[in-house]
Order: sequence, then structure tokens, then C-alpha cells
Amino acid sequence: MDGETRDGRGLNSYTPYAQSQKDMNIDGLATDPFSLTDLHNIILNNVPHGIVMMDNYHRTLAFNRPMFNLFHLPLDTFSIGMDFRDVLQIWARCTGQNSEMLEHAIRRLGMPKPFSVEFPQAILGKQHWCLLTHTPLSDGSGFVRTFTDITERKHLELELDRLSRTDTITGVMLRRAFEQRLIEEIERAHRFNHPLTLLMVDIDHFKRINDTWGHHAGDVALHSFASICQQICRSHDLVGRLGGDEFALLLPETESDAAMVMAERLREAVARHPIDLDDLGRRERITVSIGVAQLRALDSVNELIKKADGALYEAKAAGRNGVRSAVDSMLLVRHYR
Ligand code: GH3
Ligand code: MG
Repeated sequence: MDGETRDGRGLNSYTPYAQSQKDMNIDGLATDPFSLTDLHNIILNNVPHGIVMMDNYHRTLAFNRPMFNLFHLPLDTFSIGMDFRDVLQIWARCTGQNSEMLEHAIRRLGMPKPFSVEFPQAILGKQHWCLLTHTPLSDGSGFVRTFTDITERKHLELELDRLSRTDTITGVMLRRAFEQRLIEEIERAHRFNHPLTLLMVDIDHFKRINDTWGHHAGDVALHSFASICQQICRSHDLVGRLGGDEFALLLPETESDAAMVMAERLREAVARHPIDLDDLGRRERITVSIGVAQLRALDSVNELIKKADGALYEAKAAGRNGVRSAVDSMLLVRHYR
């Protein structure tokens, strides 16, 4: 549909709205309804938002040209007077929305209060983000909806969010993000009574790498070490850098025994192969110490971290390059009874 042609003045059948303008008298603007209509047409067709107006019976009263451009909707199937629920059917078909999303959109059509919502959708096979605003008219006669493509802003937001959660040196989660996930996973494990084990990993004598090879080589070593952790982990395990040369691995659905096997595999993989210190082939052997603690019935986040930390401390005290499991006081109590 070409917005120039429907009413000969530029906006697709803008008439209902134009008529309501006859009573308006805006300082500085022409009060003649047709001039005002033309002005509105120009404005409405040149804003970067799709705009739709409908009455209380969901009938489409007016829409602007960007509405079509935004969604790449078929131009000949969208017309004035059309039930907006039919428009939504077309929209759902064209943008690959499922029936649940469609029903949700239809349910919210007559919402008496303003709202806005951001939603993802496919346009011409590409993932976009869209902002919808819904505003009831003050006289209660209908609604105005605007649609804006916010893909670029959304990508920036998502990228910022990813950066705020990710350590730039190693590419793994930063402490705060890791702890947030840890809290969620602990809640889930408690709720479903599933096992979960935490590994605390610290590089042995890491300061020596910095002192011998320089800080940049230390950074590369941290990156290389984090890559080994990620290679050893399964897809649903989580790796985080808690700070300095201390890392944590969260292993959902894993008992302490299986976690010990994995920790030993990690320790061995690190100790066996010298790791990269730069792109020029300089390599150095490092070792790690690992503390392992399984979540128990009443453990909080802090208690689990404390137990894994305690086990790590023991691994260090025992000479480093080793794995220790947390002493499980609950098991011990049971044992002694
Ligand atoms: P230990 O076996 O007891 O863990 O000895 P360590 O030398 O690894 O422990 P320590 O905590 O004394 O040293 C950790 C070092 O990690 C100190 C610090 O210079 C270094 N470090 C912390 N953050 C970074 C970083 O982002 N990059 C680099 N290159 N070094 C870092
Ligand atoms: Mg260390």
C-alpha cells in the first residue's frame, strides 16, 4: 500500500483523526483542518515509528506508512476499518510469532491503561527487537499504538550486559555474575533436591609468572588457563574468575565423587602441558590447587563457598598441585553417632 495514494493527501485514510482536529486551535499552526491534516500527514509519515489508531471495537482507524516499512507487512492486506485482530494475524504470520504470543497480543488490545513492551521478532528472516507503546485516548474512544525498531539499541544493551558480566582477560564470568548464577543454581538444587558441587581453583605461585615474564605474560597465562577450564567443563557447568588468579567452577547435577574426578582431570591437564604466555611460542608450566565442596541440605551460598575455600586452603597447605574435598561435617556427625 502506498501511503501517498489512499486519501490523496499522504497518510492512509487519516480522515477520522483529521476530523477530530477541526475543533483544535493550536497556536502557531494552521487551524484550517485540511492544512492541519496535511501537516500531520507529513509528520506522521516521516517519524521513525509505526503508528496505528483503533477504536474500542478493535477497528483500525488510521495508520502511517512507517508501520508497513517497519514490519515489511504485505501492503494489500492491511486497510482502514480492518479488525486489528486480523492485522495481528498477518503480523504473526509474517514475523513468525507463535500462537501463544498472538493470543497474548490480542488479549492486551483493549488494555485500559497505557503500557509499553519490548519484544523480539523476525523480520525478513532476521532477528529484530521492537518497542510497542499502547496509549488509550483520553476520551475513551480508542487507542493509539506505536511501534519502533529498537534492534540497534537492544544489541548495544545486550553487549553492555555481556561485558558487565564477562572478564576481559579470560572471557569467563566475573565474580558478581558468577555469584548470581550460583545463588540461582543453589536455589534450584535445594528445590529439586539435586546435587551440586563447587570447585575453587587457584594457580600456584602465580606471582612468579608475573615476576619472571611480566604482567602481560601473566594475563595470557590466565587466559590460557581459563580456556583449559572451559574445555574440561560440560556445557551446563559454569566457570567464573573470582579475582586475581582464583577461579570457581560450578558443576550442577554433580556429586562430590564425580566432581573430584573432574577436578583431578583439570589439575592433571594443567600440570601436564606448559601453557602459552604469548603468541611467540613462549610457554611455562603451571600447577593449580583445587578445593571441592558439595552442597548439603542447609547450605547457603556463603557456606558452600566457605567449605570449598577451606578445601582449597588445605590443598595449598598440603604442598599445592593437589585436590582436596571439603570435610563434610554433616556426614561426620552421622558417622560418629
Ligand atoms: P599461591 O600459590 O599461594 O596462590 O601463590 P600466588 O603467587 O599465586 O598467590 P598470590 O595471591 O600471592 O598472587 C597472586 C598474583 O596474581 C598476585 C598478582 O600480581 C597476580 N594477579 C592478580 N590479578 C592479575 C591480573 O589480572 N593479571 C596478572 N598478570 N596478574 C594478576
Ligand atoms: Mg595463586
